Amino acid sequence: MTRPLKNLCEIAVIGGGLAGLAAARHAARLGRLVTLFEGSGMYGGQVATVDEVDGLAAPGHFSGQDVAIHLLEEAQKAGVHVVDVPVARLTAGDKLTITDEEGRAYHPEAVVIASGASLRKLGVRGEEELAGRGVSRCATCDGGFFREQDVAVIGGGDAAVTEALVLARHCREVVMVCRSALKAKRAYVDRLDARENVRFVWDSEVAEIAGEDEVTGLRLKDIRNGTVSELACSGVFPFIGVEPNTGFMPAALLAKSGHIKADDGGNTSDRRIFAAGAVRAGYGGNVVQAMSEGVSAAEAAVRLLAK
Ligand SMILES: Cc1cc2nc3c(=O)[nH]c(=O)nc-3n(C[C@H](O)[C@H](O)[C@H](O)COP(=O)(O)OP(=O)(O)OC[C@H]3O[C@@H](n4cnc5c(N)ncnc54)[C@H](O)[C@@H]3O)c2cc1C
Repeated sequence: MTRPLKNLCEIAVIGGGLAGLAAARHAARLGRLVTLFEGSGMYGGQVATVDEVDGLAAPGHFSGQDVAIHLLEEAQKAGVHVVDVPVARLTAGDKLTITDEEGRAYHPEAVVIASGASLRKLGVRGEEELAGRGVSRCATCDGGFFREQDVAVIGGGDAAVTEALVLARHCREVVMVCRSALKAKRAYVDRLDARENVRFVWDSEVAEIAGEDEVTGLRLKDIRNGTVSELACSGVFPFIGVEPNTGFMPAALLAKSGHIKADDGGNTSDRRIFAAGAVRAGYGGNVVQAMSEGVSAAEAAVRLLAK
């Protein structure tokens, strides 16, 4: 009798950000057959366009791409099979089934979800229409186009402040539009304070991005009294937080926020499904934690298969 075919996807990892790359590499190094799905065509997730990743415990300066490509190469050397197609659906019946956006189905024995989060949209007129024509989400990629021009950064968290620091190198003036006090780390805020070409508009949100063929300015609403004002600028960089990428997940595994409910070890209520990094409710928000959660989730998946 012929022997049954071995499952070539024992462990599936969804997401090629730093959590997913670390998980895939680790599970493969522990001897498992691993398939990694990445849907954007770019590895590194949220740090893919960051020119200097902060907080890595490593000598020297590394971009998000440096770290991601290194992890990807290591993962592939360890035998990880890479599928550059987004996952459309995960179903958790008797068998786990992953369906990718090209309609192929996979039946892993365990899944590590590391699909992370995407930058939240402002949801105002002009945002979609003027994307790439003044509206950008990457200071490193696009800052140079706004040399000696005025730009606005929307938001007050770590991402907004670090992107503003990049823009302040190129632009005449960077205006930070904030709904409330800055939430970014003290060290980032101190660096921003030291820049003479950065100013703040407080207690305000964007009502509209103005411009026909390209951005010409913003309509801002003061959230305390509703008054509307105009701000002239040629670039807008919104960084108002992130939303989890869980549209493909069974709803039963999700918290109200849309993140995956999982403990610190990545365990969900389905023993075959693990979560790591920014997609997990309770994730702390830095790359070291993302990678370490990826490794822990991979360990747990490998332990499950060994039983
Ligand atoms: C602008 C910015 C700068 C930052 N800078 C720093 C920093 O300097 N230091 C630091 O510690 N942290 C930084 N952070 C936070 C850090 O990037 C995140 O906490 C961390 O990268 C999360 O990693 P992750 O792998 O969990 O998720 P993500 O980075 O979000 O990666 C998720 C990946 O999954 C993929 N994916 C999503 N859905 C699917 C699907 N259906 N199928 C297949 N693939 C899918 C995405 O394309 C993405 O590649 C920054 C964040 C931002 C936004």
